[in-house]
Amino acid sequence: MSRTVLRELPSVSALLDHPEIVPLLTGRQRVWMTRVAQSVVATLRERLLLEERAPAGGKAALLIEAVALLKGEREQLLQPTLTRVLNGTGVVVHTNLGRTNYPELAVEWAARAARHNSDLEFVLETAERGHRGRKVERKAALLTGAEDALIVNNNAAAVWLAARHCTQGGKLILSRGEVVAIGGSFRLHEILAETGCELVEIGTTNRTSVRDYLQVMEPGATVMKVHRSNFRVEGFVEEASLAELAPLCAEHDCRLIYDAGSGALYPFAELGLPPQEQTLSADVAAGPDLVTCSGDKLLGGCQAGIVLGRRELIAALRGHPMRRALRVDKTTLAALDAVLTLYLAAEERPDIPTLNQLALPVSELQERARQLVVALTPDAPAGWEASVGEGSASVGGGSYSNVNVPSCNLLWKGPKQELEACYARLRRGDPALVGRIGQEGLAVDLRSIAADELPLVAAAFRTAWRALGLGTGNDR
Ligand SMILES: *Cc1c(COP(=O)(O)O)cnc(C)c1O
Repeated sequence: MSRTVLRELPSVSALLDHPEIVPLLTGRQRVWMTRVAQSVVATLRERLLLEERAPAGGKAALLIEAVALLKGEREQLLQPTLTRVLNGTGVVVHTNLGRTNYPELAVEWAARAARHNSDLEFVLETAERGHRGRKVERKAALLTGAEDALIVNNNAAAVWLAARHCTQGGKLILSRGEVVAIGGSFRLHEILAETGCELVEIGTTNRTSVRDYLQVMEPGATVMKVHRSNFRVEGFVEEASLAELAPLCAEHDCRLIYDAGSGALYPFAELGLPPQEQTLSADVAAGPDLVTCSGDKLLGGCQAGIVLGRRELIAALRGHPMRRALRVDKTTLAALDAVLTLYLAAEERPDIPTLNQLALPVSELQERARQLVVALTPDAPAGWEASVGEGSASVGGGSYSNVNVPSCNLLWKGPKQELEACYARLRRGDPALVGRIGQEGLAVDLRSIAADELPLVAAAFRTAWRALGLGTGNDR
């Protein structure tokens, strides 16, 4: 039985010879289109075997379906793979949505680096080979008070390189309360295992004292301290601070690495956020040998890892054989250069999207929500009601865990099934709109949406309603 249904399956050549497909097979496109046709036929084959019967129209219907699938896939393959998203989640630094948005200057500088040759690794004065990133690294050092800095692909790479070089296969001392997992793939103990070090876990999940460190410290060992980026430990707790550990490590001839996680260059307490995220300057001033952080979290830049620290140690990391595998490309370097330059040039808060979004007063967000309510209400489906909801945003990206940033929603109440259908349609839009749906309704948090995106939010709802046959169909 199962085999006979396969007789209805169109062959790859029949598919490629179809009059609607033939004009799409120009030049070299035929090569990859043949591969796509093979995968389309394979998918249909699997489905036939699973369903054990051919569709009503038999062979002809299957061929029409295969043609449509092949055309659809071709169209998709010729589009960008990333769909723009309007971030209505309220999570400002949302890792799954691409974390930070570049400041305009970073876009410009990255585009210029992409478009033209530059003195990336060339000294124009002497016509000799130069070091990639040295001038950007100097800016990072100047902003943080570190003796020197090194830029790598991301903080995971920074942590690996720092631990690898400092331990050289020897002891790495780490509190059990700081063996963290960040996102889906950063599990600290696994990354450390890949450095070949001997991991010495000390203390307990909730309490690790200075004495715990002292018991295992020995000359040549490395101590690592890690920022608890995405969780908090409360209750019966104890930990040794960076400022306590730094002099102890120096005294016992141990190196101290601090994984700062987010890497704030701006004092976020000035935005009314709790002072739990210390600036990189404060981290460096506490005296560890190396500090590592991300470039695209609180710093508001691009994906990168920054290692800050003592001159001779950074020089050694720069010369490490694996550095080549961890280095950044010219566009990343140019974008980070722009972001650091914004920090250097700013008298107060630099004009950086992440910082701007976190700094917006709730009253401004309420005003934006009100405008959306007014604009959309006349077009809304019957039974739907928009209101200005109280939002609860967060910084995200593993910073300020559990800290609610006051915010404001565009909140829709209405028939549950319609809300759900609408939300599904919004996620298929271009740009897509991602928000939150729950008991209270469908909410779009405005803290994580830029001011110039508000018309796009309104248009997204109108498009979704129209596609679903809801509302007045009035699209202005
Ligand atoms: C986010 C984070 C990392 C990973 O940084 P990436 O730049 O995403 O590689 C590592 N450690 C801590 C403490 C973090 O918060």
